[in-house]
Amino acid sequence: MIAKTTVKPTARLVEVFSAIQGEGLNVGTRQIFIRFALCDLRCHFCDSAHTWNAPTTCRIERSPGLRDFEIHSNPVPLPILIEWVERQNLPCLHDSISLTGGEPLLHAPFLEQFLPEVRAITALPIYLETGGHRPEQLAVILPYLDSVGMDLKLPSVSGESYWPEHAKFLQLCFDSHLDVFVKIIVSQKTDPSELERSALLVAGISQDIPIFLQPVTPLVAAEQFSQIPVKAPTPDQVLVWQALMKRFVKQVRVIPQTHKMLNQM
Ligand code: SF4
Repeated sequence: MIAKTTVKPTARLVEVFSAIQGEGLNVGTRQIFIRFALCDLRCHFCDSAHTWNAPTTCRIERSPGLRDFEIHSNPVPLPILIEWVERQNLPCLHDSISLTGGEPLLHAPFLEQFLPEVRAITALPIYLETGGHRPEQLAVILPYLDSVGMDLKLPSVSGESYWPEHAKFLQLCFDSHLDVFVKIIVSQKTDPSELERSALLVAGISQDIPIFLQPVTPLVAAEQFSQIPVKAPTPDQVLVWQALMKRFVKQVRVIPQTHKMLNQM
């Protein structure tokens, strides 16, 4: 008789830590961040290029917010990640768990098993930060999500183009009655016709889905992978762009990365 083998789910992680969310709808809230390794996009403005490849080790904060990291090897078995999240989850401290990256949806088979367990143990809502270009993987974990921050990548700013995938992705989130918002990084090079196309895409699903225009945070030389300089838009540009988009959708908010102002991770 051949013995049955079960494959234990593992994840490739960059880090786990507790911090204040600096972007989008959850700005200012306290979250346990689980940053997954790997990304299949190459946005010109990426400030997380260290996540693109699978690192051999990850760093795990021992005490929430104290930055007392331990180094562990990758990949990480599911029960171990549950232990680390439980250790972070002090009473009343966190508002939610943030799945970030990299692109967390590249770990969809792992998340399908991890999320029901971590929700049951912590009772914390689950928030997904994503490039918004992998609707098939999203569908696998949708039942376990509470909110989604979906990037809409403008070709003129990111160098990536995923219009049909973004539309499918957002429709799936909306149909599942999740709290969903769209985040668009804007730079001086933003093509306004792409903003109009984005607003129409969102309005085609619901005019009530909030859009966050996030002026790009200029990268320091060591963080840059692209030769294309990415500069923050001028105050006049964002005023014009917000007005343009508000013709189609109800809420267009302009918010830079607030965690960087606070010198947070
Ligand atoms: S999707 Fe995010 S992690 Fe991936 S390249 Fe773009 S900004 Fe970087």
